[in-house]
Amino acid sequence: ASLESYAAQATAAPEQTDAFWMPFTANRQFKKTPRLLASAEGMYYRSTDGREILDGTGGLWCVNAGHARPRIVQAIQQQAATLDFAPTFQMGHPLPFVLAERLAGIAPAGLDHVFFTNSGSESVDTALKIALAYHRVRGEGQRTRLIGREKGYHGVGFGGIAVGGMVNNRKFFGPMLPGVDHLRHTLDLQRNAFNRGLPKHGVELAEDLERLVQLHDASTIAAVIIEPISGSAGVVLPPEGYLKRIREICDKHGILLIFDEVITGFGRVGQAFAAQRFGVTPDLITTAKGLTNGAVPMGAVFASGKIHDAFMHGPEGAIELFHGYTYSGHPLACAAALATLDTYAEENLFQKAIELGGYWEDAIHALKGLPNVIDIRNFGLIGAVELAARPDAPGSRGYEVFSRAFHEQNLMVRCTGDVIALSPPLILNREHIDRIFDRLAATIRATA
Ligand code: PLP
Repeated sequence: ASLESYAAQATAAPEQTDAFWMPFTANRQFKKTPRLLASAEGMYYRSTDGREILDGTGGLWCVNAGHARPRIVQAIQQQAATLDFAPTFQMGHPLPFVLAERLAGIAPAGLDHVFFTNSGSESVDTALKIALAYHRVRGEGQRTRLIGREKGYHGVGFGGIAVGGMVNNRKFFGPMLPGVDHLRHTLDLQRNAFNRGLPKHGVELAEDLERLVQLHDASTIAAVIIEPISGSAGVVLPPEGYLKRIREICDKHGILLIFDEVITGFGRVGQAFAAQRFGVTPDLITTAKGLTNGAVPMGAVFASGKIHDAFMHGPEGAIELFHGYTYSGHPLACAAALATLDTYAEENLFQKAIELGGYWEDAIHALKGLPNVIDIRNFGLIGAVELAARPDAPGSRGYEVFSRAFHEQNLMVRCTGDVIALSPPLILNREHIDRIFDRLAATIRATA
């Protein structure tokens, strides 16, 4: 096939849709009325039927610098033609070393070692494994218990679904990891509905970790993993003081704290990482998505010197951590990540959620009073509008708003159940914000 024919295939609706078993999708419903994207630039996608779609979700929480940024495109093209692949098992190439140093430079102080993966799910499994192995290499191998949280989303690996707390992601897949327990979630519409920014109520929910320590004994617990702000469960924010208290309890009991920043990393909340914005430093951070602006799959786990150095004992010729992926530190991903970090820095994109956060907050809270809106949540450049569930069909109203927004208003949002979630590229301006919420408001009004 010619290059032109590849391009034609990528921009026209496909003739056959049977073979592709779509992820996290109602396949039969989708294939009757597909939503297909053909190209993208800046704040907009173009659909295969030629419409310009305003991207309210940064793709899937990942395109933080906007679409098709020339520097990133060119870095990938150039790298593909120079070194397509090189192993990183007992071999190497320069880029992951360069990239890891760059990443350590923007990470919270002390988190200066980086393990590369290819996705958020892999980052989560990697961090959980590092946590377990860390205790073992220090002679505390009985610390095998992992603590997650209700409503948590940590990807779809067995480790991630075990510590995750979304029932549909778990109930089909058997017992998963043994010994996992969960903190209570912090969503509380009764006390916090329509609050702006971090919830005022709920810091006491951090004490749930003390309860689990009393139940299981600290000596059995390896790590706690939480999202500083959970996105996929419908944007659940940490009550004021909550993360700090979780950190204190972990410290008191020698438990590692893992922040899953797959969504909050790379500028979403006004600093490189939510850890910095909230002033709470975990022992490990999992990332992916915005690391490469979504352009090439890549994830990274940040580890503290304390954790990394605990492995660097024993004979020098011994492999310290029996873990890694064929594509850990892939040349194309590294090139994309370096160009992405440069783009973020040149355009001060990590500042955008601070600069525009107030405008964003006012704009989303102006939706209060629209039909069926029961809560609005925001932090940084994240937003959520929660709709009342239809009594007989939970999730159907959220899906309808999402689908109508795409087909009737040329706006891409996310829905999780009846929550509409927003996470636009950080390059947006006030006009884009107005447009997002005008279109979303029109859609909500049109949906019974
Ligand atoms: N962790 C969090 C907090 C996420 O939001 C996601 C994806 O949305 C993941 C992990 C999984 O990432 P991936 O889909 O790249 O495996």
